[in-house]
Amino acid sequence: MACRGIVFNIQRHSIHDGPGIRTILFLKGCPLSCWWCSNPESQSFARELSFKPDACIACGACAGACPARAITKEDGGFSFDRAACTSCGACAEVCYAGGRTMEGREMSAQEAVEEVFRDEPFFRRSGGGLTLGGGEPLAQPEFAGAVLRGFKAKGLSTAVETAGHVPWENFTRVIPHVDYFLFDIKHTDPRKHKRFTGADTCLIQENLEKLLRLHSGVTARVPVIPGFNGSGEELLAIADRAAALGLKEIDFLPYHGYGSGKYALLGRAYPLKTFGSPPPTAEIVEGIERLKPAVEKRGLKVRIGG
Ligand code: SF4
Ligand code: SF4
Repeated sequence: MACRGIVFNIQRHSIHDGPGIRTILFLKGCPLSCWWCSNPESQSFARELSFKPDACIACGACAGACPARAITKEDGGFSFDRAACTSCGACAEVCYAGGRTMEGREMSAQEAVEEVFRDEPFFRRSGGGLTLGGGEPLAQPEFAGAVLRGFKAKGLSTAVETAGHVPWENFTRVIPHVDYFLFDIKHTDPRKHKRFTGADTCLIQENLEKLLRLHSGVTARVPVIPGFNGSGEELLAIADRAAALGLKEIDFLPYHGYGSGKYALLGRAYPLKTFGSPPPTAEIVEGIERLKPAVEKRGLKVRIGG
């Protein structure tokens, strides 16, 4: 387990990402760039600087530490030139106010397994375990495979959340060590999928079909995004696709805007803003509840939330 990967978060006590109580190891980096992504810090494969102006106490420590001179003193405070920033992390090391922090840390597979295994009593009691999320965990196939293998060797359950847009070989590295796959089906129209995520559906569909020939523990996951796939027609087309592939379970994940504030901290604009204001999550849930009987008629067990 000598290989290393980059992780951006570890979330404990989740009950939505596979059976039982689970700990989610979020791997950094994703080949897609979905407009609604609630974890923008997950998209780049590199470590990156998050700057929270509200937490800054203007002590100036970061300006003195920055080798790129990206932080400079100006009237009454400091200015930050993100274009000059090399994400070296020197400023975050001296910022005790939490104004500057680095997103992403490198870990060995063994460190990751040990960190997740701390929650063993919860896993044993609930039938839970480790879930790899992201980002796209299968975009770091060597690390993902080593972590899953190491965790499985402890006799506990493993799950992977994937959007499926990776070479098939990446799946083959992990399949023997995974009990459950939570596989995104975001849209059935390849052109719309490409516009809103950066990639069409060809590779994803091909991988899903191959996976279903080899693995029986696959659940479809559908982020429900108003303006992208939120109409009844689009959601039923996704349900039809899932049923035709022989899937038995589908999870609908209603849109929420929790991650929208994180974009500014990374110096980026929130892409979904171009839709205007999306409806409140409760309203989206109501819409899915209305569709539920029609989806169930297609032979799919429906879960809402996550
Ligand atoms: S070190 Fe932190 S608190 Fe001090 S000026 Fe820089 S960002 Fe602000
Ligand atoms: S991450 Fe490095 S280059 Fe960027 S602002 Fe901080 S110290 Fe400067």
